[in-house]
Amino acid sequence: MDCGNDNVIYMDNNATTRIAPEVLDAMMPFLSGCYGNPSSMHTFGGQVGRAVEEARARVAELIGADPEEIVFTSCGTESDSTAILSAFQTYPEKRHVVTSRVEHPAVKSLCDSLTQLTGHKHRTTRLMVEADGTLDLESFEKALTEDTAIVSIMWANNETGVIFPVEKMAALANERGILFHTDAVQAVGKLPINMQENTINFLSLSGHKLHAPKGVGVLYIRKGTPFVPFLNGGHQENGRRGGTENVASIVGLGRACQLAAETLDEENTRVRALRDKLEQGLLTSIPRAMLNGHPKERLPNTTNVSFEFVEGEAILLHMNQYNICASSGSACTSGSLEPSHVLRAMGVPFTAAHGSIRFSLSVYNTEEEVDFVLEKMPPIIANLREMSPFWEENKA
Ligand code: PLP
Repeated sequence: MDCGNDNVIYMDNNATTRIAPEVLDAMMPFLSGCYGNPSSMHTFGGQVGRAVEEARARVAELIGADPEEIVFTSCGTESDSTAILSAFQTYPEKRHVVTSRVEHPAVKSLCDSLTQLTGHKHRTTRLMVEADGTLDLESFEKALTEDTAIVSIMWANNETGVIFPVEKMAALANERGILFHTDAVQAVGKLPINMQENTINFLSLSGHKLHAPKGVGVLYIRKGTPFVPFLNGGHQENGRRGGTENVASIVGLGRACQLAAETLDEENTRVRALRDKLEQGLLTSIPRAMLNGHPKERLPNTTNVSFEFVEGEAILLHMNQYNICASSGSACTSGSLEPSHVLRAMGVPFTAAHGSIRFSLSVYNTEEEVDFVLEKMPPIIANLREMSPFWEENKA
């Protein structure tokens, strides 16, 4: 199938990323000739096992972990579920989880269904965020109780890119004997992470957000952290996750982590500058445009901008005519036209939340692409506003 990706201006990298050519090259042998089972005793399988271990070492190196602390999973969602459910199996007498109002559905939905999943009545405290999307440490501390088994707070938000002080939060939780999990799916590869410099117990990451394939993830489990597996089966992953490994994708993820370490500086300089140019250009050339999220405490690749009195989905359709890919904060995932729970938690007014667009860049974006988007966006918004009765009433 030809997806016509040659002409695409892809600024939706928080949704998923392209597989890096180097990653694909590393994977290919494991999709053809090197098909042995990594757990087999024979040399043919053993060499595949060694490739998995090499990938484990590469992932560990990117986040300053020990390879033994890396468990391969099928995705970020599985890693999130595994960490949280493990805590409640470790401490069956504890019935409380602390999380935030802006978590990805991978954590949010799990917390919603904890009572049903564990058969015990669980309480979830969902911390409020400030108008700029940041979290307040004082209210975090107040939420921790003797009954809290685990805290799960994302390292960086997928919609706004806002970064949370998870390392400080982990220390506060650990002091009280509470486990700390972070969903770092959006942070890994974009921010420097060194697990030797914090006390976080569990960290989730996902291959397809850092130029590796979809369907592979990692759960980092700090040495000494009590752990109960989610998938029981064979002895794979040192008995921590049953199921024959997705070898090609694991090898791809290892290679992607190596590349991410090499491009981390570029992500924080060139990509950040492109993002800033895009953001400033949109905010200055389009009236009633506003930034959602803290201007500084943010991932270097993400900007979320609201264009008041227009619908995000209508904007996306018009952008689509120029092959520009981004996301809308009003995406009606549930079939309702409710704006995103993240923007609602930040108190973004409905008229702005409905017209929000997230642009998320990667090292593959160019300045020409940013210039093209800056040329096309003002007339798109102006044309849509001309059709909007709300704009007519409010434009003054
Ligand atoms: N957590 C965050 C913050 C995400 O952005 C995503 C994906 O969008 C996930 C978890 C889920 O990851 P996966 O698609 O690998 O299950």
